[in-house]
Amino acid sequence: MNALVTGSTSGIGLGIAQRLAAKGCNIMLNGFGSEEQIDAAKASVAAHGVRVGYHPADLSKPDQIEALIKATQAELGQIDVLVNNAGIQHVAPIESFDPAKWDAVIAINLSAAFHTTRLVLPGMQQRNWGRIINIASAHGLVASANKSAYVAAKHGIVGLTKVTALENAKTGVTCNAVCPGWVLTPLVQAQVDARAQREGVPVEQAKVGLLSEKQPSHEFVTPEQLGGLVVFLCSEDAKEVRGAAWNMDGGWVAQ
Ligand code: NAD
Repeated sequence: MNALVTGSTSGIGLGIAQRLAAKGCNIMLNGFGSEEQIDAAKASVAAHGVRVGYHPADLSKPDQIEALIKATQAELGQIDVLVNNAGIQHVAPIESFDPAKWDAVIAINLSAAFHTTRLVLPGMQQRNWGRIINIASAHGLVASANKSAYVAAKHGIVGLTKVTALENAKTGVTCNAVCPGWVLTPLVQAQVDARAQREGVPVEQAKVGLLSEKQPSHEFVTPEQLGGLVVFLCSEDAKEVRGAAWNMDGGWVAQ
């Protein structure tokens, strides 16, 4: 089995790639990072005895997404599992939200998943098997202030997930969204650091403050736990899980 995981040079995407590799899945990695970071990510996946490729496509650019899909097919063969994970964040009130940042968040967090999906679907449909997993967010289900582009993109990807699931409901191709709460990755570390600076408190205290606002467990979700959920969604037992938006969020959206 072959999987393409976008945005997998760090954080959640890397955790998912490692869990899929542990189940014997060959992996195409994608995302930004230093040469050392990318080599380390590749090595951590290859340690599971699977084939690993890497492609540097910038997912805000549709022509580079096409190149990523072609390179994956050339290097690994058919794409059985697509995990749309790459994402960025920008935090500001709407009236001062930089329009260029809006466009970038929508392009990377939403439109990229449309492009990868439209390009891998024909092969999956032909083989009558495929798994498309969109990494949305608790922010795909509920909102927070100052995250207009992110919340719009994540609600959008939950909608795209449902349409993809419905259009393929009579086939062996499923599509689901995973909605994590806070996970301590570089994307969230930046928000913790900004909070520590804003409030003049130590970073550890800022972490507790962040969690206690939204996440009743007061524990971070881990990339490994999310990887476990993705592995389940790829299994035969998950064949009739279609169009779900599955939260793993320490109780965030139960409130
Ligand atoms: P991260 O910053 O650790 O990783 C993001 C990945 O996307 C990196 O590999 C980065 O290089 C890649 N990326 C960024 N811009 C890209 C671009 N233009 N083209 C290609 N790759 C690009 O972030 P993360 O926290 O692991 O986030 C992964 C996903 O999970 C995102 O979609 C994010 O919205 C979602 N998410 C994160 C959290 C959290 O608490 N960390 C919570 C809910 C949802």
